[in-house]
Amino acid sequence: MLFSSHRGLARFCNTLFISVAFASSCAADSDSLPSWVPAESPPGVFYQTVDELRSFYKLTEDFRSARKGTYTLAHDDTSIEFGPGARELRINGVDITLSRPLMRNKAGKLLISRDDWVYWIDPVLRPLYLSNRTQVDTVVIDAAHGGHDTGVACAASSEAQITLQVAQALQTELEKNGVQCFLTRTGDYFLSDRQRVDLANKVPNAIFVSLHLNSSNAEKMGPTACILTPSPVDQNERPGNAFACKNAALAYALQYTLSSETQSSGGGCCHTHYSLLSSINMPAVSIELGYASNTKEAIALSSPEYRTRLADALVRGILNYTRATSPAATMPVAPSVPRKITPKKDSSKPKASTPENKPDKASDKRRSRRSNRRR
Ligand SMILES: [Zn+2]
Repeated sequence: MLFSSHRGLARFCNTLFISVAFASSCAADSDSLPSWVPAESPPGVFYQTVDELRSFYKLTEDFRSARKGTYTLAHDDTSIEFGPGARELRINGVDITLSRPLMRNKAGKLLISRDDWVYWIDPVLRPLYLSNRTQVDTVVIDAAHGGHDTGVACAASSEAQITLQVAQALQTELEKNGVQCFLTRTGDYFLSDRQRVDLANKVPNAIFVSLHLNSSNAEKMGPTACILTPSPVDQNERPGNAFACKNAALAYALQYTLSSETQSSGGGCCHTHYSLLSSINMPAVSIELGYASNTKEAIALSSPEYRTRLADALVRGILNYTRATSPAATMPVAPSVPRKITPKKDSSKPKASTPENKPDKASDKRRSRRSNRRR
């Protein structure tokens, strides 16, 4: 069961090879602005064509599974759907809210912002290429609210009670899998954000998972994974933290297993500027386990069986993340040569394959054999 859900994050990244140089080269200057970026593009925002993304990850167009109005790229069992909302992307069934709207250039080509490519898509598709991969020893589990701060009401219970119950169930299941846990809150008492941050930041080699409930209109339901907005895409120019790409991989891993378990896409993965996340010194995600405002989901969240299912899904997601980002995770035998993303000033179209960026057929065959052995 763990293996099958692991494939979405790790198997795919083992079959795709592009240099991490791309992810670190997002700070393009105006001279490198490709001529095909639409004139209406906001200043300082750089776009790439979705065709570029497709060839970069060796994806093919796939119309078989497309929802109405969507454009789908696929590779093996991985798919990326664009639209129908201007800021919507769906990777393997997980909705991702983009920081910039998708656009079309004058030639009608679909465009995606380079920041969304760098800070969402690439960490999800290629966790092996995250910089400074470290072994995760401990999961810091943060049950939100507590004491006089009960959070939102949820059926006959409260957000504070339910998040603590899920936190404790998650601790039990993670420890069964040999993962150490640290709970910021172990009972019904109040902790300030500062106290939570101070407790968490003392734990070495850890990731931080904060648990909340959502509340909106009565129709909305399902889990949501929020991470700190990376500074380059924050409209208010607030600082992010040093874990923007790891945060994205972690959010996707957890949202993937949660939405699979609940059969609900919920709010998907999104950016937020939750102040607590900005001070946490480790990869961090805030999980909204479901909507207390939805009667059906509020009743489910009040049941121990449902909370155990959520905890199990979180365990699977956490294990998927820790395996995929472990320093011991297998690096590709022969990654592609770093590909320059800065086109020449006079180029009106993306360059065709050159000897420098041409796929290495011999290493493709080696990868294919390794991939087959894994199946
Ligand atoms: Zn909350």
